Amino acid sequence: MNTPDAMPSLAGLDRAGLRAALLQAGVPERQVRMRVNQLWRWIYHYGQQDFAAMTDIAKPLRTALAERFTLARPELAARQVSTDGTRKYLIRLGPGVEVESVFIPGVGRAGALCISSQVGCTLNCTFCHTGTQALVRNLTAAEIVSQILIARDDLSDWPSARDDRAITNIVFMGMGEPLYNLDNVAAAMDVLSDGDGIAISRRRITVSTSGVVPKMHELGTRAQAMLAISLHAVRDELRDELVPVNRAYPLAELLQACRTYPGVSNARRITFEYVMLKGVNDSDAEARELVRLLAGIPAKINLIPFNPWPGAPYECSSWSRIEAFADIVNKAGYASPIRTPRGRDIDAACGQLRSASIKQRASARLKERLAARPA
Ligand code: SAH
Ligand code: SF4
Repeated sequence: MNTPDAMPSLAGLDRAGLRAALLQAGVPERQVRMRVNQLWRWIYHYGQQDFAAMTDIAKPLRTALAERFTLARPELAARQVSTDGTRKYLIRLGPGVEVESVFIPGVGRAGALCISSQVGCTLNCTFCHTGTQALVRNLTAAEIVSQILIARDDLSDWPSARDDRAITNIVFMGMGEPLYNLDNVAAAMDVLSDGDGIAISRRRITVSTSGVVPKMHELGTRAQAMLAISLHAVRDELRDELVPVNRAYPLAELLQACRTYPGVSNARRITFEYVMLKGVNDSDAEARELVRLLAGIPAKINLIPFNPWPGAPYECSSWSRIEAFADIVNKAGYASPIRTPRGRDIDAACGQLRSASIKQRASARLKERLAARPA
């Protein structure tokens, strides 16, 4: 018999994956559809991790499943909880292969889970720590889904434990460029939005892209995701530097793809993210240009205070500069544009999740201490 460690997990699989598993466990073809539905509800509605507890499934089948499969999640290598309720998870997918997710408790009842789509990133945005890490690999759809399972386990966010949900929204703003892993992102969204399971509607799932224009239409038709654009600059010259993918898909093309994004409307606005970099992109003139550029696009603007990392070539704009910039954006009709930094004490701001930094910070602190030592 297999040892539990060597057995494949069903957690995170789509219906086709569960179907294959059930056939392997000896379920006859004519029953398999019903069994998939039962398993689906246990795994994705109740978060069940023990086949033995699946009481509407015949005992011999429960045993057959338990002999072949587990419902284990990937390993939670580290977990940090901030004083403001933000939780950061470091998830180990294999030796040296780690990604992060962050739970950001919301105002009122909306809480968001920020998840990763790749280990590392092929793009090299100069202000982003993930951009300094080479791409290791794409996440599978099951690994993307597992980030939600892990967070729901940790938050006791399954229906048997509580009536309201802690995680109501999902944002692909963790590590990686989701549009370079669109097949798996779309497949994961099919699982996450399925009404018999996790049931987070597509209107509450936002995919953030640095601007991979050729994939945007497909994101809108196939995944029907809410769209966020990492804009960060209003001129091609500067954006070429900050977000190098701009050299392939400049601003005019990006904004045109936004105007024609499937489903875009005043009820389904595109979020434009703009990281505030001191003396780089934060002038009043740039705020006015931003408003001008977005005219006619149903948009929200999200000003993100830059979160510095060791060795970063930028600083965050001053608070008064951010407010002045926000004021211009605000007067143009965009409500509450500043994204409040969350979980700063655990370094969990969504959008620059990183694992290598833990080591780097420790060594920076050590250097500081050494430098401060009396000679
Ligand atoms: N690759 C995708 C999604 C992940 S990044 C993208 O670039 O959109 C999520 C957001 O966090 C992006 O807007 C990104 O530009 C921003 N971000 C990255 N590093 C940051 C930092 N150090 N401070 C603030 N925001 C950052
Ligand atoms: Fe990749 Fe997004 Fe970071 Fe750019 S900002 S390097 S696209 S993760």
